[in-house]
Amino acid sequence: MKKYNFGAGPSILPQEVMKATAEACVDFQGMGLSLMEISHRTKEFQAVMDEAQALFKELLDIPEGYSVLFVGGGASLEFCMVPYNLLEKKAAYLNTGVWAKKAMKEAKLFGEVVEVASSADANYTFIPKDYEIPADADYFHITTNNTIYGTELRKDLDSPVTLVADMSSDIFSRPIDVSKYGLIYGGAQKNLSMAGVTFIIVKDEILGKVSRPIPTMIDYRTHVDKGSMFNTPPVVPIFCALQTLKWIKAQGGVKEMERRAIERAELLYGEIDRNKIFRGTAVPEDRSLMNICFVMNDEYKDLEADFLKFATERGMSGIKGHRSVGGFRASCYNAMPIEGVQALVQCMKDFEALH
Ligand SMILES: *Cc1c(COP(=O)(O)O)cnc(C)c1O
Repeated sequence: MKKYNFGAGPSILPQEVMKATAEACVDFQGMGLSLMEISHRTKEFQAVMDEAQALFKELLDIPEGYSVLFVGGGASLEFCMVPYNLLEKKAAYLNTGVWAKKAMKEAKLFGEVVEVASSADANYTFIPKDYEIPADADYFHITTNNTIYGTELRKDLDSPVTLVADMSSDIFSRPIDVSKYGLIYGGAQKNLSMAGVTFIIVKDEILGKVSRPIPTMIDYRTHVDKGSMFNTPPVVPIFCALQTLKWIKAQGGVKEMERRAIERAELLYGEIDRNKIFRGTAVPEDRSLMNICFVMNDEYKDLEADFLKFATERGMSGIKGHRSVGGFRASCYNAMPIEGVQALVQCMKDFEALH
């Protein structure tokens, strides 16, 4: 049976990306050696790093003056690296979910944190829109896609201060105006690669402004200066990311990724809204194209475990919702084919017919 991976992360990758990575782990470019065992200082691996950074810049149309970094530690390490490097006195945060809250918690270790707005009281079912960003903040931090709650900010905000974004779960799903951001980061395991590498896009001129000493590995300038080769980088996840970047380019770039994301989301939200058994959890205008959250209408609540079993038996993998939302979450990252969403929609229709 064909399986469709709707898991939120680590998550679906294109088959050819996984095959090319697996092959490189056995015999890297015909060297007779594995990618895992060669030095990251070889010209062969340096070429992988160079191409990954160059393609990253090309696909997102990143302007001059920005660096692309690949480091370890996950997006969670960025929650502290960002304030360590950028927070002198005060930072502003938009609280749109668990990940935003975790980022705020770390920032509080370094200075004053202003929560400009929060949708916590509504279990993060929407993205606040009316708020003021303090003009004297060192930066303003947002989470563009709230993986757990299924809300997404799909436009590039105008911010009077340096804009910092956690784009872990929606990077490469649409064109972005990078010039509006000072720093963009994310764990790769949602929409780019396997777990183990974090991507960072940083505007070089925002660095070096804080007065505190910064440990070498935490200092973004170390990684900018050394081209992400200060220490041994996560070579296999970077190679895997490069395969995904090549795949995105071959498919038509981020515009095509966006077209597909909209097509998938319209199909699935359309069914959620039509089907008598289900309803969406996020407010329609903030619905995520990446993580589509839905629950059972109250009168069908008892059928939740039944539907999970029903859909799982038909090849839908990873659709159980996060415990803080309940119900179901169908993550539809770049590599999810429309056939996967069609199959899930068919499950929902068939289940409805049974009840
Ligand atoms: C998954 C996720 C994280 C955490 O990423 P790690 O790489 O596991 O630290 C942070 N932010 C968002 C939006 C996420 O989806």
